[in-house]
Amino acid sequence: MAILVTGGAGYIGSHAALRLLRDGHRVVILDNLFRGHAEAVEAVRAAAAKEGRGLEQNLRFVRGSIDDEALVTATLRDNAVDTVMHFAALAYVGESVHQPLAYYGVNTAGGTALLRAIARAGEHGAGVQRFVFSSTCATYGEPGPGEVPIKETLKQNPINPYGASKLFFERVLADFSAAQNAAGKAFSVAMLRYFNVAGCDRSGLLGEQHDPETHLIPVILQALLGVRADGKNMLTVFGTDYPTLDGSCIRDYVHVDDLVDAHVRAIAALKPGEIRRYNVGIGRGHSVKEVIAAAEKVTGMKVPVTFGPRRAGDPATLFADSTAIRTELGWSPRYTNLEDTIATAWAWFKANPHGYAKR
Ligand code: UDP
Repeated sequence: MAILVTGGAGYIGSHAALRLLRDGHRVVILDNLFRGHAEAVEAVRAAAAKEGRGLEQNLRFVRGSIDDEALVTATLRDNAVDTVMHFAALAYVGESVHQPLAYYGVNTAGGTALLRAIARAGEHGAGVQRFVFSSTCATYGEPGPGEVPIKETLKQNPINPYGASKLFFERVLADFSAAQNAAGKAFSVAMLRYFNVAGCDRSGLLGEQHDPETHLIPVILQALLGVRADGKNMLTVFGTDYPTLDGSCIRDYVHVDDLVDAHVRAIAALKPGEIRRYNVGIGRGHSVKEVIAAAEKVTGMKVPVTFGPRRAGDPATLFADSTAIRTELGWSPRYTNLEDTIATAWAWFKANPHGYAKR
């Protein structure tokens, strides 16, 4: 296949690009490098080259935004793209509360512009037939009693602009798919609702770098390495009064390679014109305190911790009911032990304490 990977210079997108190259596909990364890293694209190229099969020659990088319709249309046509994996997005819950327009602009309007380019590119010729969207468990909002583990059928009721911007695009995408299908252009869609993505590729070349870094596991590892941007090198546990066993929040940590595997299985399974929706998580939750304990075991170091108030917008407990993706796609996470997942992240952070930019 010829696959456009939007946001391919980011954490998950770069891991997806590498997997697709390893599987023998042609890959075009589209990224405006607002939050992505040119070095991540080069890392994908290097990791593909390491395979020794010339796979790196199947990689192209286009610097640009998803809402640049002329550029995206030309990119789709020039590369005869038949499949799109859409990772490009803004993805901080907290930031979305303060800058909602940026989130609706990129995640909802930007995605809509991407679909316009797909429609235009398909006016003459086959065009894009499959689309996988990075959606999120944040589209569900705060589940009620008895609603965890979360099933795909749970009513989506987001509690922050990030979740809402992703949910709105799910709807745009479903309507676009219906219209395309009605017009005789089969356009199938997988909406994958991610839980908490963690870990790094086995090559040791691909990593996770967000500026600012706010995600739990990277924050812990950066604090241990003494490289937190604020210089404090301390983890603050956000809230110890949640209605959970130890009072801290519970999340479902899925390894990035397993998440990417879900995408690969989705594109293989999609029949022309259909829409599928899957939760992607391992189906087990870990509290913040359990994550800290696991990180201490992996690193052999004591995590410097303070306990603070709750962070706005954080539900107490989120983990997936992953029955649908397991039974329908045969997906089964290889990483089911949190320590193994953290170990893959630790390997990259230790080798790249300052991220891609400054080795
Ligand atoms: N968390 C924390 N301290 C931090 C970062 C995160 O206690 O510095 C908690 C957060 O409240 C949540 C969990 O760790 O319960 C995972 O947060 P993260 O930001 O990694 O992902 P999210 O669940 O927001 O997508």
